Amino acid sequence: MNFELTKEQQMIREMVRDFAEKEVKPFAKELDETSSFRLETFKKMGELGLLGLPFPEEYGGSGGDTISYAIAVEEIGRACGGTGLSYAAAVSLGASPVYYFGTEEQKQEWLVPMAKGEVLGAFGLTEPNAGSDAGGTKTTAVLHGDEYVINGEKCWITNAGYARQVIVTAVTGKREDGKNIISAIIVPTDNPGVSIKSEYKKMGVRASNTSEIILDNVRVPKENLLGDPKKGFSQFLYTLDGGRISIAALAVGIAQAAYEEALAYAKERKQFGQPISKFQAIQFKLADMATYIELARTLVHKAAWLKDQNKPFSKEAAMAKLFASEMGFQVCNQALQIHGGNGYMQDYDAERHLRDIKLMEIGEGTSEIQRMVISRLIGC
Ligand SMILES: Cc1cc2nc3c(=O)[nH]c(=O)nc-3n(C[C@H](O)[C@H](O)[C@H](O)COP(=O)(O)OP(=O)(O)OC[C@H]3O[C@@H](n4cnc5c(N)ncnc54)[C@H](O)[C@@H]3O)c2cc1C
Repeated sequence: MNFELTKEQQMIREMVRDFAEKEVKPFAKELDETSSFRLETFKKMGELGLLGLPFPEEYGGSGGDTISYAIAVEEIGRACGGTGLSYAAAVSLGASPVYYFGTEEQKQEWLVPMAKGEVLGAFGLTEPNAGSDAGGTKTTAVLHGDEYVINGEKCWITNAGYARQVIVTAVTGKREDGKNIISAIIVPTDNPGVSIKSEYKKMGVRASNTSEIILDNVRVPKENLLGDPKKGFSQFLYTLDGGRISIAALAVGIAQAAYEEALAYAKERKQFGQPISKFQAIQFKLADMATYIELARTLVHKAAWLKDQNKPFSKEAAMAKLFASEMGFQVCNQALQIHGGNGYMQDYDAERHLRDIKLMEIGEGTSEIQRMVISRLIGC
């Protein structure tokens, strides 16, 4: 693994940072205050090739590697946590499963428009009674002739309110040992029987769309089943492994923004006749923040590099997600502390960063679940 970014990766960082500074950051505050999703930003991301960044050109993508994609998520997240979450979910959850497991026809039909940035996709795994325990999925898909009839409910699904289709997980049968077979099925959101509501009142990542999906006798052609029906569970575990790299990258981006703002504030704010950055207590906070961010970024890049080398990366992705999200929360909390009372006010971004980053310890597997995954993979 190289510790220096390639020329291409450096160019991607510059290009995405420039885009994010101009097209994402100026809207972050307002989108948070109004809990609004800005579709226009995603159209522009599509034009730049960001929504297809890690997919080959033959599928409408930009042919970048996972490290480049992680850099892009970090830079979008540095500008706006909610927009970063929707970007990461669109690529890692909406589009990637079709790329990993889809047939050639499915890729042409569903992946190409997503990779070109013409439409968004979503991934619906979580249900009111199946969160960490995704095996407890209650949604069913029953084959009637040439169609699956799907019934169930999905909650907190990122981007579903703006998606052309949602990949939903559903019970399609029973294994010999009596356990449910869970498969992934592509459901167009304009199908009769699909209702989507975006009415949650969230603590943070408010620029991201989060929706509830009700599936009431929804009929889709049996060709919409994604990949091997019997391997649905391991397929979405693989999808989540990749997604974890992007959530870790997003945590690094949000933490980086919080740190940069705290550093600037500490140099400006004077108490006891000098900038607070001259106090060792503040200096050590900033030194710790810079160190943790650097460490988390290195873990993210290592997990991404392993994925690019086609080597096992589940453990490193879980470690990166766990460490980046928990260090990110600490960094954002300390960044707010450095701002004092101003940090508690909405005039500054510190409180938004803290609200946004909390989600990183919950989404795509909580910290507790990451520790379970790591324990299993280190042989406990
Ligand atoms: C803003 C947002 C966006 C989201 N986007 C998506 C999306 O696009 N697609 C999607 O499918 N889902 C999405 N989710 C759902 C998210 O992935 C789940 O919230 C998450 O997996 C946790 O599930 P849960 O909330 O049901 O918590 P629970 O599983 O009920 O867990 C509650 C607590 O118990 C702990 N816990 C559970 N099991 C164990 C155990 N065995 N050992 C120790 N502790 C345990 C958890 O760590 C947690 O602290 C989103 C959620 C949010 C808030």
